[in-house]
Amino acid sequence: MIRVFLISIFFFSSLFAEKPMLSVTILPQKYFVEKIVKDKFDINVMVAPGSSPHSFEPKPSQMKALFNSKIYFMVGEQSEKAWIDKFKDNAKNTVFIDTTFKVPKIAMIEHHHEDDEHSDDEDEYLDPHIWLDPNLVKIQAKNIYNAIIEVDSKNRDFYMANYKEFIDELNRVDKELEEILKPLKNRIFMVFHPSWGYFAKRYNLVQISVEVNGKEPKPAQLLEIIKEAKKSNIKTIFTSLQFSSNSAKALSTNIPANVVSIDPLSEDWSQNLIKTAKEIAKSDKR
Ligand code: ZN
Repeated sequence: MIRVFLISIFFFSSLFAEKPMLSVTILPQKYFVEKIVKDKFDINVMVAPGSSPHSFEPKPSQMKALFNSKIYFMVGEQSEKAWIDKFKDNAKNTVFIDTTFKVPKIAMIEHHHEDDEHSDDEDEYLDPHIWLDPNLVKIQAKNIYNAIIEVDSKNRDFYMANYKEFIDELNRVDKELEEILKPLKNRIFMVFHPSWGYFAKRYNLVQISVEVNGKEPKPAQLLEIIKEAKKSNIKTIFTSLQFSSNSAKALSTNIPANVVSIDPLSEDWSQNLIKTAKEIAKSDKR
């Protein structure tokens, strides 16, 4: 009797079973992983939409989802590193994968450094925003593919086909971005939070940051930035919703320049990059 009862519980729970879970740190990674696994997994994202990935705090529900995840795909960012020991303690059966493996990192742009404190952690000076260059995303996609076939090898062909399709998409996006950005006369653009270092490097642009070492600039620094903006003929200051930017508004009246919001953490990754490139191109025509 008990056995019949248990069997029926298993039967019904498997009928209504949720899909297996994967975890990622940021929304663009959700896009990348979904391109490869399609709907075979649910994806748990640790940094909620609209929050900064550089100072996030996971909710209990996210920790639970992490515990249920087959894989955690790390993006290699400082605040993620601060959490990772806790994550590993909480999710003993989860495989932790570094999606930055083989991604060539560049230094964070240096800008008005006079009161910089030195840290022993060299990584702190490397730019963590590796997800905004389609060519680097190809490396991340390969890392994701390699990890997923380890936990679900029977669907290897399915994942391989999806992976190839995604590489084609990345090539198309890269080509389109190049076409949009190639004709620009002024290749310097100004952003509040310097997320676009890899993007700038790829498309031969120069990113100027308003933030100084992750903080709003002090009045003297603000004057320097205004001078630099005028010299560089800046007509737009790009902000993003994840970072409050009082100084961007102050700057925009002084330069003068428009303030335009762009999103380094959009889930709609391909379309968002194209949209961003068009905004930068539009600024060039102002
Ligand atoms: Zn950032």
